[in-house]
Amino acid sequence: MTILTGGCQCGAIRFACDSDKVGQSSVCHCRMCQKAVGNYSAPYVSFRPGAVTWTRGARKLYRSSNLASRGFCGDCGTPLTFEFEGCEPSIAGGAFDDPAALPPTLQCGVEGMLPFVDGIAALPREETGDVAAEAGSAEPLRSYQHPDHDTAVWPLPKA
Ligand SMILES: [Zn+2]
Ligand SMILES: [Zn+2]
Repeated sequence: MTILTGGCQCGAIRFACDSDKVGQSSVCHCRMCQKAVGNYSAPYVSFRPGAVTWTRGARKLYRSSNLASRGFCGDCGTPLTFEFEGCEPSIAGGAFDDPAALPPTLQCGVEGMLPFVDGIAALPREETGDVAAEAGSAEPLRSYQHPDHDTAVWPLPKA
């Protein structure tokens, strides 16, 4: 068994999942998922019962339908879960510390798929440039995002 860890951008919420209980990694194009994550589609990894442990903080839940809720960090707003009532939460794929370990194997909600999504892979590509320069800042970029691993203390004490 491997423990798959992850959390929100600010680090207030952290989770650990049992890799032996992975259900399916998928990308959903339905309109509710688009709105819930503010994106063209939403990646979720489903799990069998007992797989997901919340190791720091507590997610907030928005009841998005009579059948399901969406979990998110109340501090930084990162979307974290899709949860059918009484079922194990599905976890947002990008919230894992190592998203590459859980590649999607299915697209669902394809009735809501936006017409340009299939073309994204063919768009021109560039790497992240000098963000500070683009923002007109004399200071270099300093990320406040939680690192991609568990930490004993967070936020770090100010030096
Ligand atoms: Zn957060
Ligand atoms: Zn959906």
